[in-house]
Amino acid sequence: MIDYDKAFETAVKAVQTEGRYRVFADLERICGRFPKAKYHPGNDEASREITVWCSNDYLGMGQHPAVVEAMQKAAGEVGAGAGGTRNIAGTTHYHVRLERALADLHQKEAALLFTSGYVANEATLATIARILPDCIILSDELNHASMIEGIRGGRSVKRIWRHNDLEHLEELLIELPTDRPKVIAFESVYSMDGDIAPLSEICALAKKYNAFTYLDEVHAVGLYGARGGGIAERDDVLDQIDIIEGTLGKAFGVMGGYIAASAAIVDAIRSYASGFIFTTALSPVLVAGALASVEVLKTSNDLREKHQERAERLKTVLAEADLPVMPSVSHIVPIKVGEPVLCKKVTDYLLQRHDIYVQPINYPTVPKGTERLRLTPTPLHDDGLMDTLRGALDDAWTALKLSRAA
Ligand SMILES: *Cc1c(COP(=O)(O)O)cnc(C)c1O
Repeated sequence: MIDYDKAFETAVKAVQTEGRYRVFADLERICGRFPKAKYHPGNDEASREITVWCSNDYLGMGQHPAVVEAMQKAAGEVGAGAGGTRNIAGTTHYHVRLERALADLHQKEAALLFTSGYVANEATLATIARILPDCIILSDELNHASMIEGIRGGRSVKRIWRHNDLEHLEELLIELPTDRPKVIAFESVYSMDGDIAPLSEICALAKKYNAFTYLDEVHAVGLYGARGGGIAERDDVLDQIDIIEGTLGKAFGVMGGYIAASAAIVDAIRSYASGFIFTTALSPVLVAGALASVEVLKTSNDLREKHQERAERLKTVLAEADLPVMPSVSHIVPIKVGEPVLCKKVTDYLLQRHDIYVQPINYPTVPKGTERLRLTPTPLHDDGLMDTLRGALDDAWTALKLSRAA
C-alpha cells in the first residue's frame, strides 16, 4: 500500500524542521482606516485590532474612495463576473478601457490584462520563447519566481547574470552568436532588498548587442515616474523597453497583471499565450477599480511624494534606534534577522506583545542567512505609528537578543 498522505506530511515536516513553515495571519482590513486591521488569532470570530506594516498596498489605494466607488458602481451596473474567457464573451468595455489606459501609462501602443502579475510573467516569457524558438534568455539571478517559471516553461536556453551586474551581463552577451535572438529579463525595483536596476545602462547594452528587453515593474508601477509609469518612466527609457510587465495588485491596490508593448507584440502574446487564452477574464468589478486607481495615480504625485518621504523617515528612525536596517534606495525597508526560526519568533513577539503585524521573510523568498523583516511604510503610516514601531522593534531585539549589525 502506498501511503499518499504520508508523503505530503513528510514534505511539510521538512519545511517545519527548517523553521520556515508558513502561518497565514487571518486579517480583516478596515476600509478607511488603513493600515489598521482586525486580526483573528483563533478559529472563532474573536479579533483584535493590529497595525499592518508589510502590505504591498503601498499607497492604500485598495481603500481609496474613487477605487471603492468605481467597484461598487460596476457591480451594480454589470454584476460580478466577466462570464467567460476574453475570446468567448468575457471582454467587457472595462477591459478595453483599462488596456488603453495602461498602454498610455507606459507610452506603448497596446497592453494586455492577465489574471495576475504572476500569470503575466509566466505566460508571456514562455510565449516569447515559442515565438523566438532559438532565443537565449539572460535572466537576472534575483528575478521573481514567476519569471523563472515562465523561462523554464519556454524551454529556451537560459543564462543567469549576477544581480544588477552590468559587467557580467556584457560578458555573457559578448559570447553569444550575433544571429541568435537574445532576451534580457530583469526587474526594476527588487522587492526584497529594495534596490533598483540600472535601466539606462542595461538598455544601452541591449542596444549594443541587439537584444530584446523584458522588464518587470511590479514594485514600481504607480509609485515612480511622473504619472506612475514606473522606473522606466522616471529614468526616461520607456521607449527602450520592449515589454513592460506590471501588477494591479500592489500599488494600484486591486488585482490583476498586465504587459504593455508594441501592437505586434501584444497581438502575438494574445494569440499564443495559454495562460491568457484559456482562463476566465478578470471580473469587470476588479477592472473598474484598477482603472480608477490608475487614473488617480496618473494625475497626481501627492501620494507618491508622501510615500517616499515616509520611507525615508522610517529608515532614519530605525537606524537611529540602532536596528539593522539593510541599505535600500526605494520604498522598501528590510531589517536583517539572518535566521528563519528567530525571524518567525520576532514577528510572533511583535504581534502578540505589540499588535504589530510584519510577516517573516524566509527562504525561498530570500537566500538562506538573509532572513528578514520587510517593512512597507505607506503614506498612511504616520509619525506616531513609526514611533510605536521603533519602540516595539527595540523591545523585541533586546528581549530576543538579536544582532544589531546590518
Ligand atoms: C508580486 C510579484 C509578481 C506577481 O504579481 P501578482 O500580481 O501579485 O501576481 C511579479 N513580479 C514580482 C517581482 C513580484 O514581486
